[in-house]
Amino acid sequence: MVVAYDRDNIFAKILRGDLPCTKRHETEWAMAFDDIAPKTPVHVLVVPKGEYVDFNDFTARATAEEQAGFWRAVKETAEICGVGEEGFRLTTNNGEVAGQIVFHFHVHIFGGRPLGRMVR
Ligand code: IMP
Repeated sequence: MVVAYDRDNIFAKILRGDLPCTKRHETEWAMAFDDIAPKTPVHVLVVPKGEYVDFNDFTARATAEEQAGFWRAVKETAEICGVGEEGFRLTTNNGEVAGQIVFHFHVHIFGGRPLGRMVR
């Protein structure tokens, strides 16, 4: 982990209710809301409720129960947003080198149109 967890990051504020969001799903372990600058018709972010900077941090420190709960919420969110059956893309940017700009671990769900091949 390169960056320390900042409790005032945007997603922490959304989780606390200090900033608004268009919520799609919430469980004991995670919250899902629309990305503010959607790249696809469905572009939802799923964030764990625990304080994790990125994927590396989440997989290193979250309990097995938290991790299972988080990934279950990702699957449920895809279904709730209507792309569970037709297909979708999951992305997580792990670290600045990957373009991560919000340092609270999150997974993007992209869908709602053909996405093409990501890497050629
Ligand atoms: P990443 O850290 O590179 O995965 O990107 C963070 C994502 O958060 C971007 O797609 C932003 O559009 C999105 N984002 C930033 N601020 C907000 C917000 O307040 N609500 C919802 N999404 C946001």
